[in-house]
Amino acid sequence: MARLIDTHAHLNFPQFQADLAQVLARAREAGVGMIINVGSDEASSEAAVALSEAYPQLWAAVGVHPHAAAGVSPRYRSKLAGLAANRRVLAIGEIGLDFYRDLSPRDIQEQVFREQLELAAELNKPVIIHSRAAHSKTLQVLREMRPPRAGIAHCFSGSPKDLAAFLELGFYISIAGPVTYPRSHELRALLKEIPADRLLLETDAPYLSPLPHRGKRNEPAFIKATYERVALALEMELESLARLVQTNVPRLFWP
Ligand SMILES: [Zn+2]
Ligand SMILES: [Zn+2]
Repeated sequence: MARLIDTHAHLNFPQFQADLAQVLARAREAGVGMIINVGSDEASSEAAVALSEAYPQLWAAVGVHPHAAAGVSPRYRSKLAGLAANRRVLAIGEIGLDFYRDLSPRDIQEQVFREQLELAAELNKPVIIHSRAAHSKTLQVLREMRPPRAGIAHCFSGSPKDLAAFLELGFYISIAGPVTYPRSHELRALLKEIPADRLLLETDAPYLSPLPHRGKRNEPAFIKATYERVALALEMELESLARLVQTNVPRLFWP
């Protein structure tokens, strides 16, 4: 069986501090061979890198989430650049815009997003994009800045037009647990519009547990349910989908 890959998790968050060893053991049992832990601020980025040095199956991304944009330290960019020098750091992320919760003022979200896109270009790293209720602005900024390595539209949901715009910019599309929910007809219909060589899967653990784990803390082992639902929607074998993602991930990160 090809290994499953979770391209976006937060085992660097406090929700996993007490039982990380068991979480990793369950992931291994479920066939998960690689997990990318994503930073959401300076401290969680540092924690993601530390985990990647402690466990060979864990990799890292470093960045400031739009929720944390208003709280960055004056030297956050050089801090992220220092962390990104580690070969276990695959991307700058998660970065972007969140106009759903608006936890940072929108102008500051945009400024910090642009600064990190610049940083990713300087460091020649892909980016991991968080965009919620903000696709038109996110895409406008991305069209202006044209991140040279593109990256991942994480936990994607949006219109066929949004999807086409991310694809046109060279982005990979990462699908999370909501694809398993009964009401996610539109998202499942959209799966068929994603070119096979741009499709990725993720948990976004501890959030967004797929069925049948909905309502519980999410963890990488649960990604198997998302693989199964996506394989069913695409009328593929689970094994073929696992191989497909296994081919896509290195093309993005180690071209
Ligand atoms: Zn996110
Ligand atoms: Zn996330």
